[in-house]
Amino acid sequence: MGAGKSRVLHRSLRETPPRAVGGDGVWLIAEDGRRILDASGGAALSCLGHQHPRVLEAMSRQASKLAYAHTSFFTSEPAEALAEKLVGHEPGGLAYAYLVSGGSEAVEAGIKLARQYFIEIGQPQRQRFIARRQSYHGNTLGALAAGGNAWRREPYAPLLSAAFSHVTPAFAYHEMRAGESEADFVARLAAQLEAEFQRLGPDNVAAFIAEPVVGATAGCVPAPEGYFRAVRDICDRHGALLILDEVMCGMGRTGTRHAWEQEGIAPDIQAIAKGLGGGYQPIGAMLAGASIVDSIRDGSGAFQHGHTYMAHPIACAAALEVQRVIDDEQLLDRVKDLGRQLERRLTERFGNHRHVGDIRGRGLFQAIELVADRATRVPFDPSLKLNQRIKAIAFEGGLGCYPAGGCVDGRSGDHVLLAPPYIATSDDIDMIVDRLGRAVDAALQSVG
Ligand code: PLP
Repeated sequence: MGAGKSRVLHRSLRETPPRAVGGDGVWLIAEDGRRILDASGGAALSCLGHQHPRVLEAMSRQASKLAYAHTSFFTSEPAEALAEKLVGHEPGGLAYAYLVSGGSEAVEAGIKLARQYFIEIGQPQRQRFIARRQSYHGNTLGALAAGGNAWRREPYAPLLSAAFSHVTPAFAYHEMRAGESEADFVARLAAQLEAEFQRLGPDNVAAFIAEPVVGATAGCVPAPEGYFRAVRDICDRHGALLILDEVMCGMGRTGTRHAWEQEGIAPDIQAIAKGLGGGYQPIGAMLAGASIVDSIRDGSGAFQHGHTYMAHPIACAAALEVQRVIDDEQLLDRVKDLGRQLERRLTERFGNHRHVGDIRGRGLFQAIELVADRATRVPFDPSLKLNQRIKAIAFEGGLGCYPAGGCVDGRSGDHVLLAPPYIATSDDIDMIVDRLGRAVDAALQSVG
């Protein structure tokens, strides 16, 4: 990999990744001149690809006017305009945006807002949160406690709050029983969630938190029809909040601005990040319903939280322009069309593949799951690190794709996640599937 010693503490302490020196639409350019087709948009961020001129111009315009003003003293034009764009005309009642620097911060803010809300309305006993296994909500300690990814949690388990408990995810490929209908599966999951409320004492639960389409941990897993309506109903009956984490699956990635729009429900609190700023700036947001914010305004008057870089003017200007481009260029329609093509091409290439057990996702958020045995759905031995092999071989072949799973709880194995930029062409989609196909076959050959 890259030459010379690096002082950057990289994800791997053994290898320094190659240097990226340029970007050009769906392509990333390495220092040796190689062009890598960015088929996962990094980790599902790059919705507009790289170096979009309108976003660069918006950032530069804002930087030349005002780069930073602390939010204890000032608000800013781009922060106000971005919040208006995000929640000014929303379906579902989300009315305020708390602008932060990424997904974990957005989730942390959502958890804290839910907690403070219940204190302020005189229900301080609501201290429990229910989440799902095989979920990822971020790497800071509160968000990590919410997440159900066993591998990520394990080293830090003593530091994670016991306020979070985890129920079965709506992961049909692994959790649905033989002979069980989708409706029965949903009913079983709902009964389990209800039982968890009863175990904790329904009046002690502050919120249920879930990703509408599970991303990094399980590989683009949407819930079966009716699941989120059942969950919404249980939360409502017990006076608990519904927090949806759309950090990865949100902001158009699944073909609608929010993935929850396809579920016939709306959350009380939502976390967004990656596609919000498209990778141009570090930005995330926690969106909150009016009644929650109004209760705190009428109570203590302040959300007891904050970060130095919140509502950063350049980050807000970048995100605002990303969202305007998505609207102006009608990219959500494009996500739907290209998403159908991607799904079709993946099915053609992998539908009969003996080691591809499942192809799933929504819009431009699709994954394949690798299995040692299609009949039993048994995963490959995690020590083979099959998804990492696919990633490395794909990279050599000029394709960036995102390895997921492979380390969860022995039930689901290796996934490869695709999340191409919304500006991709139909030819790009074909090239992604061709290159992925070659990488998967070569990686499987390497494990024998
Ligand atoms: N929530 C979900 C669903 C995610 O996929 C991620 C990141 O992958 C996060 C939260 C954390 O976001 P960040 O890495 O920006 O802190």
